[in-house]
Amino acid sequence: MRNVRNISIIAHIDHGKTTLTDRILEITGAIEKRKMREQFLDSMDIERERGITIKSHPLRVFYKSKKDGKEYEINIVDTPGHVDFSYEVDRSLAAVEGAILLVDASQGVQAQTVANTYKALEHNLEIIPAINKIDLPNANVAETELEIEDLIGIPSSEILKISAKEGIGVEELLEEIIEKVPAPSGDEDGKLKALIFDAKYDKYRGVIVYIRVFDGKVSIGDKIMTFSNGQSYEVIETGVFTPDMTPVDELKAGDIGYIIAGIKEVSLARIGDTITNAIDPVEEPLEGYKEVKPMVFAGMFPGVPEYYEELRKALEKLKLNDSALVFYPDHSPALGFGFRCGFLGLLHMDVVKERLEREFEMTVILTAPNVEYKVLLKNGEELIVNDPAKFPDESTIQEVYEPYVKLSIITPPEYLGRLMNLVQNEKRGTMISTENAGFERVVLNFEVPLAEIIFDFFDKMKALSRGYASMDYEFIGYRKSDLVKVSILVNKEPVDALSIIAHKDKAYSMARKLVDKLAELIPQHQFEIPIQAKAGGRIIARSTIKALRKDVLAKCYGGDVTRKMKLLQKQKEGKKKLREIGNVSIPQEAFLALLKVG
Ligand code: GDP
Repeated sequence: MRNVRNISIIAHIDHGKTTLTDRILEITGAIEKRKMREQFLDSMDIERERGITIKSHPLRVFYKSKKDGKEYEINIVDTPGHVDFSYEVDRSLAAVEGAILLVDASQGVQAQTVANTYKALEHNLEIIPAINKIDLPNANVAETELEIEDLIGIPSSEILKISAKEGIGVEELLEEIIEKVPAPSGDEDGKLKALIFDAKYDKYRGVIVYIRVFDGKVSIGDKIMTFSNGQSYEVIETGVFTPDMTPVDELKAGDIGYIIAGIKEVSLARIGDTITNAIDPVEEPLEGYKEVKPMVFAGMFPGVPEYYEELRKALEKLKLNDSALVFYPDHSPALGFGFRCGFLGLLHMDVVKERLEREFEMTVILTAPNVEYKVLLKNGEELIVNDPAKFPDESTIQEVYEPYVKLSIITPPEYLGRLMNLVQNEKRGTMISTENAGFERVVLNFEVPLAEIIFDFFDKMKALSRGYASMDYEFIGYRKSDLVKVSILVNKEPVDALSIIAHKDKAYSMARKLVDKLAELIPQHQFEIPIQAKAGGRIIARSTIKALRKDVLAKCYGGDVTRKMKLLQKQKEGKKKLREIGNVSIPQEAFLALLKVG
């Protein structure tokens, strides 16, 4: 048996995963303390700023056990910390034999941590629970123990208490990993079978594929094949993360490392796919591969119409590094040529938008995000619709289906009533069950339409619970629903990009809020502008923007010319941010008005 342990760390954001990893690097001497932050944390700026590390690369360290004096190789695989990336979490967990369950003693167990721990249990991982931040004055170790016991069924006697910051209990944790997590099994002499659990695009080297080898070996010059699409490549480099990328001669059963094989874009090295030897392939791939499907869609249009081509190039470049991003050309009578984009969730959408702005200096107009509907027409035809503008006419529709999720919320009991009210009365949710966890937490399980939680749900939940509640959700399937399309007319002209799909019971109130919001966001013009919402052939709400009395130059009459010029110039710049629709200028933020009324 090799002295190898492969693990992952399950932790909610801010519970101390990075600090613990840093401490492990320090204890094992993999990296100097001084250099640590810069070196290890190489994740994208956006993620760091938002406190969300989507994923950093795996790490290999060596630790000499104080108990048996032997040296062990420990590989730590990171898992993403956001529900948008739950399939990646699943595949990362499939790459290891054990997981540290790290819980902040001052915060208690959070919803996503529970969901991820269940995943780890499904993969038969050995779970090493550890309560972190015991040094904090407000650490509540006893309650956190109870929560772990109640939620995950791990007895409190088995839970380690550590402080990643102060280094307390971290060596004990490493000893526990060695003792409890099984060494990887697998046949080094068998046919190559490796799992792709992540892939990163590098400008100079192409795609770097992160793999866990289950059987066989792989080294430079080997012909490998990705199972899902039958593409083959020649291996240029194999290596491990120490934490820098360090080439090694070969990767064999049990190893975690990377392969470079001239793969051009990450969508060809799909997470969850199996790599095998192209000349001597295995017959069956590893279980659990699935194609990630976008759940949330939005129209994306260049801020300036002439930049369509540039936007296309930018999206293509992003796609090299982001296999979950989907886009195809689209045209909107209101916004011109652009793209329909599919994202894993709202965070993913925000990351894409910000990367376009920062890395490509592109301003884009995004329309309000929506989910994907299945529509059965009266003539028997079935449509998949992810653009409200293309939602068929009500008279032709037999049935509509929308995606549902199982939503779990963990909250202190005092916020229970408000949260139940939010989900059941405002968000069309149905309560499935509740459980207690310790004395200070309750778990609420609901079934809710995905469309109801993609907008402002997270913020509302946080506000209602003073930040204490946490949530997780997973897709459970499509359900029949009473949905209608609400179209918006600005100055009597339909603006397709503002259309929404709403449940019949909420169509009126949403339409009302939307027209009011639009009336606030669209500036006054020289003439009166009616904003109307239409559903089922009828106007269901209307708001009016009053005409502007004076024009901008009025106050300059007689004034000096330069001032007038300046004003005109300023106005011109301001206009860049507006879209002319008919003869009405609509600011970008109006296209996201829906987010504010959801
Ligand atoms: P991550 O989001 O899980 O990677 O969390 P970090 O490792 O970045 O930690 C979040 C915050 O908690 C940082 O400010 C850390 O300094 C702090 N932190 C982490 N571990 C401990 C600990 O054991 N004790 C205390 N007091 N603070 C900690």
